Amino acid sequence: MILTAHSIAGVGMTSQRTRNRMADRLRDRGVVDERVIETMASVPRHLFVDEAMATRAYEDASLPIGQGQTISQPYAVARMTELLLADGPRERVLEVGTGSGYQAAVLSRLVDNVYTVERIKNLLDRARSRFKALEYRNIHTRYTDGSWGWASNGPFDGIIVTAAPRSVPAALYEQLSVGGRMVVPVGARLETQSLLLITRTLEGFHEQRMHDVKFVPFLSGKS
Ligand code: SAH
Repeated sequence: MILTAHSIAGVGMTSQRTRNRMADRLRDRGVVDERVIETMASVPRHLFVDEAMATRAYEDASLPIGQGQTISQPYAVARMTELLLADGPRERVLEVGTGSGYQAAVLSRLVDNVYTVERIKNLLDRARSRFKALEYRNIHTRYTDGSWGWASNGPFDGIIVTAAPRSVPAALYEQLSVGGRMVVPVGARLETQSLLLITRTLEGFHEQRMHDVKFVPFLSGKS
């Protein structure tokens, strides 16, 4: 094996030790679901960002992934995943906003099937090739505006939205099954977004405001 300066630096910054440090930071910040933390320590986050960013992949930061979009920071991924799974296992999870594919990859290790949709073709194509290379076979993708959900594969017992709409699109409420949980950042401006946990029971929908958050905007149409 030929070790170049680049590959040595790369190995150090993406090693299991670096990933374990990320896991410890998640625990320090209050994430308690060890299955989520261990999954995040095993999914190679550095392969979901551009090579130039790979050495920063395990910092607790969101990073640019092109097209003005970002891969969510590890804490947000962990917390949203933990909230989604808090009430028992999930069989069918819809993600709106595939982006780099990292959130979908983490979910794919924890739920039966992940259905993820993205409105930017170029990002979706790159995420698809990562899923293929890493052999994540239970992730299903679609190029569409997630305002419409993915009716033909619903209803879902989990929905996770990784861009912030002003209000939750009606189709997402409709495609959430009874007993299902939806985690979604809502708010018109960066400064005023909140993460909502929406649960559906036989009586209807229940909404809880969980955290202040900062997500890229949820946009309509395809690009
Ligand atoms: N889950 C991603 C986060 C990417 S950022 C990850 O782990 O990397 C949010 C993504 O939501 C962006 O890629 C953006 O293009 C996408 N998005 C925004 N509005 C959308 C919509 N209406 N339908 C589908 N995707 C949308």
